[in-house]
Order: sequence, then C-alpha cells, then structure tokens
Amino acid sequence: MKKHLLVITTGGTIASVKDEAGLVPSLTSEELISYLPELGEDIMLTTKALYSLDSTDITPDHWLGLAKTIKDNYYKYDGFVVCHGTDTMAYTAAALSYLIQGSSKPIVFTGAQKPIGFEITDAKANLRDSILYAADDESMGVQIVFDGEVITGTRAKKTKSLSYAAFSSINYPLLASIHEGRIIRYMKQKKPETAPVFYDKLNKKVFLLKLTPGITPVLLPEIFKNYDAIIIESFGVGGIPESLEEVLFVELKKYRPEEKVLVMTTQVTYEGSHMETYEVGKTLSDNFSILEARDMTLEAVVTKLMWVLADEGLDWAGICGKFYRPVAADTLY
Ligand code: ASP
Repeated sequence: MKKHLLVITTGGTIASVKDEAGLVPSLTSEELISYLPELGEDIMLTTKALYSLDSTDITPDHWLGLAKTIKDNYYKYDGFVVCHGTDTMAYTAAALSYLIQGSSKPIVFTGAQKPIGFEITDAKANLRDSILYAADDESMGVQIVFDGEVITGTRAKKTKSLSYAAFSSINYPLLASIHEGRIIRYMKQKKPETAPVFYDKLNKKVFLLKLTPGITPVLLPEIFKNYDAIIIESFGVGGIPESLEEVLFVELKKYRPEEKVLVMTTQVTYEGSHMETYEVGKTLSDNFSILEARDMTLEAVVTKLMWVLADEGLDWAGICGKFYRPVAADTLY
C-alpha cells in the first residue's frame, strides 16, 4: 500500500553546511530530501521545514511546537520522520513520547554525525532507513532510527560524540535493526486501538543537580526557591552525601512533597537507581516523600516530570501515580 510521510526538518548536522563559523544548519527540507536516491513508488514524501537550529538551542517550547505540527497533520499522513540534531535528540524523542501517547502511526527521529552534503556521511543511510521504517506497516509510536538501529524514544541516549553509532538503548532492548533496507524486528509492538492522546503543556521548572564528590549545599535554597522539581543525579544506586544532607533536609521540610518534587537518579548509565540499598539513600527515602527514577533515562525523567507537573492540581498520590505509570515503555518497574 502506498504510504504518505511527512518529513519535518528542525536543523542539526544532517542539514548543515560548512562556512567560516563552522557547521550551520541551513539546508532547506527539499534540499535535504534531494540527496536521497529514488525510494520507489510506494513512498510519497512531503516536507516541512519547522526549525533551522542546532539542537543545542532546542527548548521545551520547540517540543510543544513539534508536537502541535504532528497533531495538526496527524490524519493527513501515514507516518512522520523528524530530522533533528543528535545532541538533544534523545530529550526531544522522550518529550514527544509524553506529548503524543498511544500513536498507531510512527514518529521517527533521525539525524547524522556528518552533514548530508559531505562525501563521507551517515546522513543518507539514516534518512533512508528512517523513511523505510516509518513506511512499514508494523511501525508505531516514537523512536530514533540511527546507524541501522531502532531505539524506543524514551530509552535513547547519545553515548558517543563522534562515531556513527551515536545512540544506545538504555535498560531496554533494541526494537529492530535495519540492514540494506531490510527491517529485522526484535520486539513485537501492539497497535493501539484507540486514537492517540495529545498534550500541549509542559512545566519547565525542572532542575537537574549533578553531584560531585565534596559538593557544597550553597545553591540548594536558591534551587528550591526557583524550581518545582529537583532531580538529584547521585552516584551508583543513589544516596545523599553528608555534605548536602542538613541543608537538603531543611529545604525539604519547608514544602509539601507536591510543591517541590524531589527525584533521585543515578549518574551510572545502565541498571538504574536503587535508593533502598545503602544508608546514604535509605535515610532520605525513609524520611521524605520522594520519587526515584529507577530504570528511566535522565532524558525521560526530565521530560516526564515536565509533563506530569504541567497538571497543576495534582496531589502527591496523583504525582506518584502519573510518574510511575509506564508510558511508551519508559520503565519496566
Ligand atoms: N550540534 C549538532 C546538533 O545537535 C550535532 C548533530 O546534529 O549531530 O544540532
């Protein structure tokens, strides 16, 4: 059956050209597509240039704009391919997994480590694979297609800054791989029977505090004052160092748990947080109402919190229920 896809461009290396200032994302969406060889009569492409940005400059407002573009075009196309810079692609893919839930149509993110106009580039293969994947009947939901791998949108992380194999799937298997135009599926996904649910709000007041050995608590009161959620990226399975404990506990006691949501996660890429293991983590979780990221990626935790806390009327039980409920395979707990 003929498939009609919308290719949305947002910038990134894939659409960049080199000038004196360095790589600048300036190719139009038609120019980008013109680099692809014939795809066959079964695939029809329409392009939409949404942004022309290095993904370093993509913000939550751009995620909302992208979600709205897909919502506005959802019933006109069979699937969507989003060309995006690799640096923050995992955040955007996770954000879109929360903003568009239960999509029976594929929303495929891709990009490249080298611009599409370079003689040696991964861009053409990534774009062609993404289009083939988005045109396949069995594809659905949000994912990243990169270097021949298909990664669930909530599970992707950029783990290499230069290599073509830039992304890894964290704490979750690959959905599929693509070799010379052939899709090899490793996991069966079930098509949702109901229409997708679109969301149009995010709470941007989410702060990430990465711990370093010997960290001092000087900024903690300011962080608590200015943000609605604080994610502490701790060491190993998770704990709070003595140097932070006193000030952190004083701050936590000033607010109700739903007013300042504290989430513990880990700097370790694989296998997640397990706060109950050591005294340094247990003291916090025994004495305060906090959330734990468990097996979720940092990108998923940041964007899920923005989605959860966009709903302003939630009490603590409501926040816990929404945060821990798996969305788009973001957690297996
Ligand atoms: N700085 C670029 C970006 O994220 C890197 C890339 O696309 O690979 O937009």
